[in-house]
Amino acid sequence: MSDTKEGIPEPGRDFIRDVVERDLAAGKHKTVVTRFPPEPNGYLHIGHAKAIWINFSIAQEYGGRCNLRFDDTNPAKEEQEYIDAIQRDVRWLGYDWAEHLYHASDYFEQLYDWAEYLIRAGKAYVDDSSAAQIHDMRGTLTEPGRDSPYRSRSVEENLDLFRRMRAREYPNGARVLRAKIDMSSGNINLRDPVLYRILHERHPRTGDTWCIYPTYDFAHGQSDAIEGVTHSLCTLEFEDHRPLYDWFLDNLPVPSRPRQYESARLNIGYTVLSKRFLTQLVRDGCVAGWDDPRMPTLAAFRRRGVPPEAIRDFVRRTGVSRSNGVVDIQMLEHAVRDHLNKAAPRRMGVLRPLKLIIENYPERKTEELEAANHPDDPLAGSRRIPFGRELYVEREDFMENPPKKFYRLSPGREVRLRYAYFVTCREAIKDAAGEVVALRCTYDPLTRGGNAPDGRKVQATLHWVAATQSVPAEIRLYHPLFTRPDPGAGGDFMADLNPNSLEILRDARLEPALSGAAPGAPVQFERQGYFCADIDSRSDRLVFNRTLALRDSYAKAQASEKTAA
Ligand code: ATP
Ligand code: MG
Repeated sequence: MSDTKEGIPEPGRDFIRDVVERDLAAGKHKTVVTRFPPEPNGYLHIGHAKAIWINFSIAQEYGGRCNLRFDDTNPAKEEQEYIDAIQRDVRWLGYDWAEHLYHASDYFEQLYDWAEYLIRAGKAYVDDSSAAQIHDMRGTLTEPGRDSPYRSRSVEENLDLFRRMRAREYPNGARVLRAKIDMSSGNINLRDPVLYRILHERHPRTGDTWCIYPTYDFAHGQSDAIEGVTHSLCTLEFEDHRPLYDWFLDNLPVPSRPRQYESARLNIGYTVLSKRFLTQLVRDGCVAGWDDPRMPTLAAFRRRGVPPEAIRDFVRRTGVSRSNGVVDIQMLEHAVRDHLNKAAPRRMGVLRPLKLIIENYPERKTEELEAANHPDDPLAGSRRIPFGRELYVEREDFMENPPKKFYRLSPGREVRLRYAYFVTCREAIKDAAGEVVALRCTYDPLTRGGNAPDGRKVQATLHWVAATQSVPAEIRLYHPLFTRPDPGAGGDFMADLNPNSLEILRDARLEPALSGAAPGAPVQFERQGYFCADIDSRSDRLVFNRTLALRDSYAKAQASEKTAA
């Protein structure tokens, strides 16, 4: 494997790609076939994005194909809403399964036949034990399991009972079908695993046809074989299932022979990537839904304004390896800033407005000033923004008694208003409580456009909007959902929820060009960060999400001063 200087494998270089290349070179397969196999019991999260990228990009790079296969074997938890959301999110991420959309449920009849095949071969039996009894007899990592009293049933009896399971003769949990492998195997997965359980539950696709459903283990490898999957790529926790995966393929007349390869899961600090927990957050109302922009789901990233290219770049940069680790969320943020810096047009928005009054600017005059849409891209053009005697600036851009190195507004200080003029702060106007409510300023008419003819310099350039010709907006700022990098490590992940993960600013003012912004379309509010209109936004009530803040150079300078002191 060749690595770049930063330790990032070059595109196309990791151990799975090595295996694929070797197999193709050796003529073991004519083409590579992979699959992405989500269970439709929740929305896709960024961990799934990694699996999607691995499977689809490998198929693309080697001229093969990648199937989208729903692993829909547990109708108790699966829903059409999730099936639709998963397809939407895979497409949004930029991948296309063409006509190769499959479901484990497409193979229910075939899987059933193979279960009877195992029974006839004396390799499967119906067990009347309860789930708890089966669990008890399973043994532990250090002790072997014990044989079920039903293990030696005859083939005829097993066939009869299994058919009656299918024929709805028994209630949930009354019986299961198990493989007859080895109760003393060192690998617990081989201790007569369950193949079918009774579940009187309507299936989103097969309706009431079935009341017995195959387990994940019994469905997965055989589905791979039916589809001609060559490389079945999954995460490390399935490594111990691989001997079972192979046992089924060895003992059934399957049409092809896939191989399973495992790589590490993606884990991100301060983030939970488990559908079970994410479902709980949604169900308990800790977030507003699966697409709440604080969630690590693809639907949430889309709503928040994260571009799919950034997610693809990020998962690619995390690499494919066999060692589990936790990735810093800043790595994702870096990829997002990288893309948005290029893609997002610049606008001005004041999040926490403070009025600025220019006393020497004519009372009823307004004018329009030219502002570039992108500093690095002349082709992005420009727009005109209204300017007048009363403006809003950012409250935090004023300090009455500024510390050293605070170069923004304070009494007597001259600054530049971006694309406009130099203004000098004369005085802070306060209310009865002593709170600053406005700034009295003067401007220099000769500095129009932002430069002084006499060449004098200012040390700060501030964003602003016109007081009456700006539009009001609600701004939603998002902070991490959890207060610790390893949520749940203390036992209860709900205890680690950040109570302040959503901050709503209700009085923001934006330049008028933003009133027609399309939901999800990225913009940069100069000096603030990347934003997009939320799907809740209406023309008479604008709502913007902050995708990500820009790095705050002042906060950074302060932090480095503190460490230096
Ligand atoms: P969860 O733990 O969130 O329930 P899962 O593995 O049960 O995830 P599936 O819908 O079965 O969810 O996952 C589909 C595919 O995505 C599987 O191949 C799985 O290995 C992969 N996958 C899920 N989470 C991650 C992750 N964090 N990193 C990499 N791949 C993942
Ligand atoms: Mg799974």
